[in-house]
Amino acid sequence: MKNKFIVTSVDIEGYRITCNYIIEGDWGKYFSQSTNFWVEYNVPLNDLPKSLAIIPLISNILPIAWLNDAEIFLDEIDSDFFECIDNVKSGYKEMYPLLQFKGSIRQKSIVKNIYEVSKPAVLFSGGVDAFNTLLTHISEKPMLITLWGADIGVDNIDGWRNVSNHIKETTSQLNLSSYIVKSNFREFIVSSKLKELLKSNSKLNWWHDFQHGIGIIGHTSPLAFVLGIEKVYIASSFTSNDIGNYTCASDPIIDNQLRFGVTVVVHDGYEYNRQNKISRICQFGRENNLYIPLRVCWQAIDGRNCCNCEKCYRTMMGIIAEKENPVKFGFDVYNQNTRRIMLKQLNDKFRIEYNHRYIYIQKRLRENYDLSECPEDLKWFYNVKIKHQMPRFLELYFRAISKIKCIILGTK
Ligand SMILES: [Zn+2]
Repeated sequence: MKNKFIVTSVDIEGYRITCNYIIEGDWGKYFSQSTNFWVEYNVPLNDLPKSLAIIPLISNILPIAWLNDAEIFLDEIDSDFFECIDNVKSGYKEMYPLLQFKGSIRQKSIVKNIYEVSKPAVLFSGGVDAFNTLLTHISEKPMLITLWGADIGVDNIDGWRNVSNHIKETTSQLNLSSYIVKSNFREFIVSSKLKELLKSNSKLNWWHDFQHGIGIIGHTSPLAFVLGIEKVYIASSFTSNDIGNYTCASDPIIDNQLRFGVTVVVHDGYEYNRQNKISRICQFGRENNLYIPLRVCWQAIDGRNCCNCEKCYRTMMGIIAEKENPVKFGFDVYNQNTRRIMLKQLNDKFRIEYNHRYIYIQKRLRENYDLSECPEDLKWFYNVKIKHQMPRFLELYFRAISKIKCIILGTK
C-alpha cells in the first residue's frame, strides 16, 4: 500500500491547535498510536488561518515523508510555505547525498497569507548559540520564542519551571517579551523506529540530523501571524569552517529556504565559532554589568546545568579562557574543588587533547594569558597539542578498557 498521511482536521481552539489524521502504508510504525499532534501557545490564536496552523505539523512530518516516498493530503496550505518546500528538500539532499528524498503534497487549495509585521523573533533555548544571536540583534528588540517539548518533555513540569524562570530572568533584565510554545512534536513520532531509515549511517540521529531545525521553526508560523513577526532568527551551532565535518538538520542551506506568510527565516551566527560566541557573551556582561546565566546542558532533565558533563565543562572552560568566572554564567557549583575535578575529568575521561572543539578555547587561553601568567592548573591544557580526533587504535583500546572495567564492576 502506498504511504499516505491524510490530514482530516486542523482544529484551532483558543490557544491550542490539534491536528487529526489517518496514516496508510508501512510507514505508520513511525507515528505514535496513542496521540495525535497538538501544540499550545501562550497567546490566543485569534483568526489564525488553517493554512498557517497546519505548518507546525507538516514541518515535522516532511523529512519522514521524503524518506518514505509518502504523499501528504491536506485541505489548505500557505502559499509561501508550499513554494519553499522544494528548496528545503534540496537542502536536505545536499546535506545527505546518499539518501533518497521523494514524496509529495496533495492539497485542495493554496492560500496567500498577508499580515502586518513589526519585529523579529529569536528562537531562544537559553544556550550559547541562542544568546549570541540575541545579543547580535538586541537593538531590534526581538521577541523570544521558546519551545517546551524540545529538550524538556511536555510532562516534565519541574524541569520546565526552571527553564521558565530562566527565560523570565533574561527577559526582565533585557526588557524583552517572551512567548512559549508547548508541543508534543517529539512524542507524536517514534524516534527510536525512525533510526531504521538512517541505517546507512549509524552516527545519524533523527532529532539532531533531520527534525530539530525545520521542526522547531515550523512552530513559529502561528505566532508570526498573531504577533506580526517579520523574520525568525534561529541560532547556528556550527560554523562555515566546519563544512564537510558535520551533519545537522539546522543549517543555512535548509533554514534560510524556509518562509511562510510574509515571514522569512534567518540561520544566524554561522560566522562565529562557539568560543567567539562565548567571548561576545562575556564582553556583553562586562560592558553592561549584566551576567545572564546560560542554559547549555542536555544531560540534566531539570532544565539547569549539571556542571558535570562534557558540554557543561566545555562551556565553563570557554568562560575561564575569557578570564571570567563560570558562576556568573549559570554554573552555580563551580569552585576551586569542582574546578579540580573538572580538569581531571577533561584530561582522564574526556581526553580533550583529541577533541578539536577545544582548539578554539585553547587559542583564546593563549591570547588572554602568557604561559608565565597562565594559572598553574591550566598549563597542561595551554601546552597540549590538540589533535583533530583520536587515532582509531587508541579509540578501540579505550573502549576495550572501559568494557573490562564494566565487567569487573558489574555495571553497564
Ligand atoms: Zn551538563
